[in-house]
Amino acid sequence: MYWMGIDLGGTNIVAGLVDETRTIVDRVSVKTRVPRPMEEMADDMADMVRTLLARNGLNMGDLPFVGVGVPCTANEETGHMEDANNLGFDDVAFVPLLEERLGLPVRIGNDANAAAWGEFVAGDYPEGSMLMVTLGTGIGGGIILNRKLWSGYNFAAGEFGHMTLCMDGVPCTCGRRGCFEAYGSATALICQARQRMAEDKTTILWQLCGGDPMQVEAKTVFDGAQTGDTACVELLDRYTDYLAEGISSLINLFQPALVCVGGGVSRAGDALLRPLREKTAEKIYSRNAKRNARIVLARLGNDAGILGAALLGEDS
Ligand SMILES: [Zn+2]
Repeated sequence: MYWMGIDLGGTNIVAGLVDETRTIVDRVSVKTRVPRPMEEMADDMADMVRTLLARNGLNMGDLPFVGVGVPCTANEETGHMEDANNLGFDDVAFVPLLEERLGLPVRIGNDANAAAWGEFVAGDYPEGSMLMVTLGTGIGGGIILNRKLWSGYNFAAGEFGHMTLCMDGVPCTCGRRGCFEAYGSATALICQARQRMAEDKTTILWQLCGGDPMQVEAKTVFDGAQTGDTACVELLDRYTDYLAEGISSLINLFQPALVCVGGGVSRAGDALLRPLREKTAEKIYSRNAKRNARIVLARLGNDAGILGAALLGEDS
């Protein structure tokens, strides 16, 4: 049994062949090169599928369908990609284009939802419910309830980054203010670090970034905190407060068995996980319950998106 998953990103398109152990056994990628017509991107994807099949001695008949994770709202009923602004499209009939080229059914899902699904199905969790919170440029999310991905009535569910953490707070890329991602994303942490640097010329951040605030990354703050630098320790304390506030609200809403934290920031490991667990445990409404959501770190990194796309709509 094989599956094929494609992760359509703003920079790269990556296709992966997945075997019955739910492992990516081969992969191929091309540059997305936006803006260009969707027909061309579909041509590229069909070529990638054929390449992977040929390289592994397989043919189209070995695949039940091809799954694609897309960086926008993925209308599962019409097969349209909606609000795909970062690819240069408002609304594009994507599924028919790829089905025509492959002669196979094509399933689509939002990329963050697909990554959540991939993490869940490949993570082999006995629990039936999980929220995925991805801390990267923004904050992405995915909701798994009763072992199924919940994409919402209009397929736009799981936008955790745009729930309000602070009314009238700092501006967000979505046009509103005070969104969770304006405080809890990697971008937000970098912004908080630069502000602190402007006020504090003695912080080790100046050394770690070679005197250029533009070189600060989320990791720079974690590195600084490890040296005991007061500014970095305070920055992280505040940052994990924001994260715990947001995640506590999500737990209060869904009461999932698991909250899986992924994205670039999650590579900080225990330095992130420990304070997040402690602070969330104090904040959640169910703090006195006999059992509560377990916060874990994502295991699959970028592979989650391909795996989740490959297994969209399949049993967990
Ligand atoms: Zn927002």
